[in-house]
Amino acid sequence: MIIIAGPLAGWVTPLDEVPDPVFADRMLGDGVAIDPTDGRLVAPGDGTIESVHPAGHAVTIALDAGPVLLLHVGLDTVALDGEGFTPGVKAGDRVATGDLLVTIDLDAVGRRARSLVTPVVVTNGDAFAIEEPAAPGVIAAGAPLFVLRPTGAAAVPAVAKAMPEAERTLALPLAHGLHARPAARIAALAAETGAADLVTADGRTASAKSAVAMLALALRHGDMVTVRGDTAAVSAIAELLETGMGEHRAVAAPMPAAPVTLPDRLTGIAAVPGLAIGPAFRLRTTAIAVREEGQSPALERQALGAARFKVRKALEEVARRAGDGAGIAAAHLAFLDDPEVSAAAERTIDAGKSAGFAWRAAIEGFVAPLLASADRRFAERIDDLRDLEHRVLAALDGGAAAAPALPEAAILVADDLLPSQLMALDTRPAGIALARGGATSHVAIIAAGMGVPMTIGLGPALGLVEDGTDLILADGALTIAPSAAVMAATRADADARAVRRKAAEARAHEPAVTTDGIAIEVVANLGSAADARAAVAAGAEGCGLLRTEFLFLDRAQPPGEAEQRAAYQAIADALGPRPLIVRTLDIGADKPAPWLALAAEENPALGLRGIRLQLARRDLLETQLRALLGVRTEGALSIMLPMVADRAELSAVRALLVRLADDAGVALPALGIMVETPAAALTAASLAEDAAFFSIGSNDLSQYALARDRTNPAVAAGLDGLHPAVLRLIDETVRGGAIHGRWTGVCGGLASVPEAVPVLLGLGVTELSVPPAAVAEIKALVRGLDMGRCRGAARAALIAPDADTVRALSRPLMEDAA
Ligand code: PEP
Ligand code: MG
Repeated sequence: MIIIAGPLAGWVTPLDEVPDPVFADRMLGDGVAIDPTDGRLVAPGDGTIESVHPAGHAVTIALDAGPVLLLHVGLDTVALDGEGFTPGVKAGDRVATGDLLVTIDLDAVGRRARSLVTPVVVTNGDAFAIEEPAAPGVIAAGAPLFVLRPTGAAAVPAVAKAMPEAERTLALPLAHGLHARPAARIAALAAETGAADLVTADGRTASAKSAVAMLALALRHGDMVTVRGDTAAVSAIAELLETGMGEHRAVAAPMPAAPVTLPDRLTGIAAVPGLAIGPAFRLRTTAIAVREEGQSPALERQALGAARFKVRKALEEVARRAGDGAGIAAAHLAFLDDPEVSAAAERTIDAGKSAGFAWRAAIEGFVAPLLASADRRFAERIDDLRDLEHRVLAALDGGAAAAPALPEAAILVADDLLPSQLMALDTRPAGIALARGGATSHVAIIAAGMGVPMTIGLGPALGLVEDGTDLILADGALTIAPSAAVMAATRADADARAVRRKAAEARAHEPAVTTDGIAIEVVANLGSAADARAAVAAGAEGCGLLRTEFLFLDRAQPPGEAEQRAAYQAIADALGPRPLIVRTLDIGADKPAPWLALAAEENPALGLRGIRLQLARRDLLETQLRALLGVRTEGALSIMLPMVADRAELSAVRALLVRLADDAGVALPALGIMVETPAAALTAASLAEDAAFFSIGSNDLSQYALARDRTNPAVAAGLDGLHPAVLRLIDETVRGGAIHGRWTGVCGGLASVPEAVPVLLGLGVTELSVPPAAVAEIKALVRGLDMGRCRGAARAALIAPDADTVRALSRPLMEDAA
């Protein structure tokens, strides 16, 4: 038995979960992967280094006991060309278990690579079988990762040495040299077509059937290589190499092939819900042309420095102001001053290029790997980088990005929109309609802050909408050129809404009690202290959901305990005696954090997010709980866990919270859960033994119940929380909670859908947590409802065939309440 020591500290991950078929399909051999939390790659056993890739990201080591291991740090890390990797060994060096092989700058690599997950692969797997792999979980460097049992097969497969029948010599066209992925594909091709060798210009030879032997050749882009062997194998391999093997990555999105026609109505995702009516105004941005050749490095450096100074001043000004733009400007400042971006631009200037050319190339160097990763979670960070590219080029051009002259009350139509473009508008648009865009993007946050309804993901047909066309934008749908009658009716509806809104605002600070005397708590969803102040002013009776993610996104490091405590304290202070429910960090899936270097996932919504991620990274959870235990509140402080699917998750956090509260000598806050998974809803009666309350996360609960990805514009329009399946899950939750005297609230978007409110109340929901701007109207609606009628409507809704029938049941109650 041979014990293989973990070469990195991190999180053990089965090879099947590595999002790259070269590893997941065992094309290079069997093994186990580690998602690193520390940047020291050490020897997994005593042996001799066979190869260190020129990019420093991959090491092969022949252990004295026979196995040959490939340690491949991250995915697509070859494209970093060595940045972030400092090898401490070279081919031929002797090493003992635990000796340092490579130092990895995890921040730098994690920012630019697709993933940091590191496969540890046995390349001569015929001779060994893996046994006792470490279970998924935390591993320290040097702890046993797996055990190898010799199978008795030949330790090193014999390479066929047939007389060469054919030979082709070529310059290696692969942009990143011969690294793991192309090597695995060549080996698979050789296995199908016959025996061949690759021979370098200095005569080193590797069998094309052995990916690891080919890696050891350390061939770089442009190196001469001869393919020699069976005719069929030689031509197949040479032809494959000549294609470039997809290593020259196209960065432009392919144009849609089918002709696009403009329908009367387009549907997308309501990133900011609301109603807007107005003429279309298309935002046209002209790409800023840059000349390639520089005047002199000194002059170009000076020009770039001056442009960045100008942009920095403008961003600092925004960052100083309170509000949603401030955090975003701070994130852009960090990008602007990133030493790697600056160094890349300066290198290009020194090579004789202009400041603009160098800045664009430097940003592109960071954007290209993010685009190539095809990981949707990076799309919004790409927008930020492009925004910064645009700002600096505009400053170099001698002017600020020209603000388009937007007519009054127009609906802004664009393919996509950058934060700076929105902030630069002189006039507030009535609404925003985007062909692409992201629901959690910075533009969406700014639009919400401005109170501008915004729908994203309307698709390429939006490009056919002409300036001046009448549009109605209503909660995720865009009606194009409606008849005059429809326009008039919608305007009348909007006016009536405005009148109702004014009346509701006048009574915003009164309680929400139904006509038959049942008080419903109407609280707010918050993301910052500014939100908390707005919510109190809008009549919110407290906070039903504090999304703490706001503190964790767009930064290089997670906030420490003191910073978190100060932020939570500011929110508690703004709320005064009102209750505060804080949701612990709900990150992962559509909410990425750059500092967290998560492995890309095939199905992020079903992946490592919410409570799962917190239990995988207990350090983050513990810091957050400690910070919360230090907050002093006038009102009740409760803690709420996201994405719970299993009672064990809740018990684990409860045990930790009890210990930390005990250490801190403070009272134990109430611990509740969000009900966002069908599993939690269906086991509510059991969860209620441990959970102090339930809050329905209807956005996620609908996504999981209806099997519709909330971030996918192709299916998200059908996400309807009034679907009877979702209502049955809410019913199950309320009844399960009631067995143990626990209350159930709703903090997802359903709580602010007027047609849903009578049904939710009828099901027994006693708290509605809504965006601050919706508080007054939801309170007004509750005041007009009769609980007896709501219960009747809810009973019928549970057995209704579809959401439309549920709406028909609830509409009369709503209309009578108005
Ligand atoms: C929800 O899922 O309904 C919810 C409130 O959480 P989030 O939207 O932040 O995922
Ligand atoms: Mg959620």
